[in-house]
Amino acid sequence: MTDRIDKIPNGQRYIVLWDKIVYDGWEVAVSYENLELYLTKWFSYENLELYLTKWFSYENLEEDYPLKYNVVNRGDEISIQLMHTFHSLIQRFGLTQDEENPDIVLSIGGDGTLLHAFHRYKEQLDHIAFVGIHTGRLGFFADWKPDEVELLAQLMGESAQQDDLRVVKYPLVEIQITTQNGIETELALNEFTLKGVDATLVAELHINDELLETFRGDGICISTPSGSTAYNKSLGGAIVHPSLDAIQIAEIASINNRVYRTLGSPILLPKHHHCDIYPRASQNIILSLDHVYMQRNDVLSIRSMVAAGKKVKFARFRPFPFWSRVREAFIGYDML
Ligand code: NAP
Repeated sequence: MTDRIDKIPNGQRYIVLWDKIVYDGWEVAVSYENLELYLTKWFSYENLELYLTKWFSYENLEEDYPLKYNVVNRGDEISIQLMHTFHSLIQRFGLTQDEENPDIVLSIGGDGTLLHAFHRYKEQLDHIAFVGIHTGRLGFFADWKPDEVELLAQLMGESAQQDDLRVVKYPLVEIQITTQNGIETELALNEFTLKGVDATLVAELHINDELLETFRGDGICISTPSGSTAYNKSLGGAIVHPSLDAIQIAEIASINNRVYRTLGSPILLPKHHHCDIYPRASQNIILSLDHVYMQRNDVLSIRSMVAAGKKVKFARFRPFPFWSRVREAFIGYDML
């Protein structure tokens, strides 16, 4: 082992996988996940261990490693052009682009583009912060204007150099889909919806293991606070500040008459409550998680709740209060 470690060339990068680094088939135990170790000296096996123990504090790695970023864009000409501009601006601050393991993901397009970015990186939420430039209307996630790209690059670069990345954390909705084959767990940033495909959705809705109602109608939408301004709002749901750890259940065109009855009002559940939906057996249903749709007929039940221990992080390089965004997105800039 000593021989092999001594042959590691100076200045090479090694990917740290879970609890070991792998180099040419050799493994060295370390205790950090998904970080890159940059060897600046040659090591014997013994002092490599010491080095790792001493240097594998996150702070030290951050000092040595400028933030890594990636850009996801909507694919239109303006968004692509802005992406190129951003790349050239950010380089002077020493940030490197890394598509696989970025620390910051810049989304250029709309809120929909940020939803795509979220789903692309949802396995790495613990270390990624998102930020968005809108190239259409002002968004909730995409709250930087195209002509602010230079300012954004400067603030991002400076906060990386000063090791002072400020983030806000917003709750997510977790769903657990139970089928005969087990439980599948999924996350959504805006909402989860359930709808019938070729007929009215019929489903029992339970809250904290007690039946609330038998729902008949087009569907059910369960949104996060940050998704409350999206589909939920069109359904008459309340706008919820994302500092609240809650999910909102809103009905989509429920049938209400002398025979069928639902509550008819949106409901907010706190983080220690859960909702179970039991669709009528073998019904064809469509589930959506934000923009991702799947048709199923094997679902026994779906549990929704505030995702425990998982939040989405947004990098904040300046204050832009949620209620200002609500006003600017829905009421307009020209206030009397
Ligand atoms: P889309 O149908 O192309 O766009 C849906 C619209 O919702 C876009 O204008 C999008 O903004 C906006 N939006 C997304 N997230 C938002 C948020 N958190 N707050 C306010 N507005 C938001 O679909 P998409 O772009 O792939 O987005 C999927 C989302 O569409 C779903 O998560 C759902 O919330 C929403 N949706 C809404 C309805 C409805 O209101 N009746 C129906 C189906 C789906 P940008 O233009 O900035 O991208």
